[in-house]
Amino acid sequence: ANPLPTAEYFAEYGQLYDHVGMLQDEQRMTAYHDAIKLNAERHFKGKVVLDLGAGTGVLSIWAAQAGAKHVYAVEATDVATHAEKMAEAHGFGSVITVLRGRMEELELPCKVDVLLSEWMGYFLLRESMVQSVLLARDRWLAPGGVMYPSSARLLVAALDDPPFVPSRHSEVERHVADWDVLASDMSTRYGLSLQALAPAWRAEQEQYTFRQAWQGLVPESAGIGEPQVLLDVDMGTVQNDELFGWSSTVQISEATPETPVTALVGWFDVRFCAGLPEGAEGCVTLDTSPTAAPTHWAHTTVPLQPPLTTPTVGVRLTQSTRSHHDLNLTLSYDAGAPPERVGASFAITAEFRGTHA
Ligand code: SAH
Repeated sequence: ANPLPTAEYFAEYGQLYDHVGMLQDEQRMTAYHDAIKLNAERHFKGKVVLDLGAGTGVLSIWAAQAGAKHVYAVEATDVATHAEKMAEAHGFGSVITVLRGRMEELELPCKVDVLLSEWMGYFLLRESMVQSVLLARDRWLAPGGVMYPSSARLLVAALDDPPFVPSRHSEVERHVADWDVLASDMSTRYGLSLQALAPAWRAEQEQYTFRQAWQGLVPESAGIGEPQVLLDVDMGTVQNDELFGWSSTVQISEATPETPVTALVGWFDVRFCAGLPEGAEGCVTLDTSPTAAPTHWAHTTVPLQPPLTTPTVGVRLTQSTRSHHDLNLTLSYDAGAPPERVGASFAITAEFRGTHA
């Protein structure tokens, strides 16, 4: 069984402050609003809806406006009281029932026709809230019920010119300079020499700086390679082990000895196309790619140190052993080592931590 979401995780969502960044995210809001509105007749009118992780209740209100017979708005944090106020204020006090608690521990009075949720985190899967969604789907979605969103993809591409690199390099240099000051003080005050540790200090700083994923907006001008799809899943059928604990390979064709690739950028998109052919009217996409309008999810940059000079990259994604809400991405590739080490592969482990908004 999956571990339950932790108190530390819910602390990221317990105040209105934590929800403002999401309400300000126009791409996010517009995609959900359009998806619900355009499919009011098809999926919402007269139906029972579960809004998993209701927050301030905005999705529940849209579902009610779209004609839902009843909406169960499940929210674990104190923000649930605000969702209740919002439901009342919009005249849906009797249509929307706010249930405060962890989804995993709640009972609904009946199965639902629609499972509506905004569960995506950094790199699609951080937070692991999707596990709560799959659990709720298997337990509460009626046969023939629909998922909002209905599918999700995780993508990566080569990044020519990672915008963060120069500032990160200068950060390392600053720490190295700090060390020199410390070494000189130790020497004059106590007769100690720290010089023996200087290379280790630099290596540790570089490791810290370049083995972690960086969360921030990558401008389209940064030079983004051909997108490669790491995951493409149907939310109606996907299983936990297809999301976490998998390994695969991607081909980053831009990487050659002449054109080394120094970073990958990752992002996701989701579709609201339940029961509709791609491109059909009513089929809405929320795209967080560097070539789309910015969202609060921004992008995930994974530095490649040493740079990638051959196309094949092994990818493994797991939940962090420290917290199942965090991710661990391991990239393995031929490091272009000197002749005696050819064939040795190099692994980068990028950690994804931090708050959602
Ligand atoms: N639906 C809102 C909020 C999305 S943020 C909106 O679109 O603006 C996700 C919310 O889900 C957070 O408020 C978080 O507390 C809640 N949540 C996450 N996992 C949950 C679970 N297992 N049970 C109940 N609430 C959960």
